[in-house]
Amino acid sequence: MSPRFPRRNLAAPLLAAAATYQDAAVIPHCARCAKPCCRLDSLVLELDWTELKALWRIRVSRAVFDQRLAAGTGPKEIRAANGLYFGHRKVCPAYAETQRTCRVYDQNVKPPGCSDFPVYEDGGDIVADLRCEAVDLAALKACIARALGPGYRITQSADAQFPFIVTLSAARLTDPGAA
Ligand code: SF4
Ligand code: SF4
Repeated sequence: MSPRFPRRNLAAPLLAAAATYQDAAVIPHCARCAKPCCRLDSLVLELDWTELKALWRIRVSRAVFDQRLAAGTGPKEIRAANGLYFGHRKVCPAYAETQRTCRVYDQNVKPPGCSDFPVYEDGGDIVADLRCEAVDLAALKACIARALGPGYRITQSADAQFPFIVTLSAARLTDPGAA
């Protein structure tokens, strides 16, 4: 049987597969997670100014905030670089620890990286972050296989510098090197 999706069209079904996996396997686990990512003890939260201002409830202008950061009088958990801000080693202020939920879950100020973690589509591949204990690569591969249908082989490779970042690639069995 012919594969349902040419390589150039894999992004849409893989995007759907990532969303399905997040909904079915990741989000239900968050309430009982041993190491919630929103505590930012190992993960770094990337924010633009709008997101930072809303989540950290900053009342001063960006210029004033940046001056304070540079002077060492801003929030210790925030670093600035390349026009963005990075939160690390302090619980995200939008995280409701008791309920283990995000207070801005459905709001525009939730940083895009929060929605992408731990599984997202990137350039026709699926990327999974194994720092999330809910990620099961075998189950994720099965989810991708169901989304693509027959005729694909799924391979995995780990990032050389950050081996907990794993890329799952789908190749048509008829493609050279896929068999
Ligand atoms: S690490 Fe994974 S399971 Fe834990 S809170 Fe974050 S997304 Fe949920
Ligand atoms: S914005 Fe929400 S999802 Fe993102 S780190 Fe904060 S609490 Fe977690």
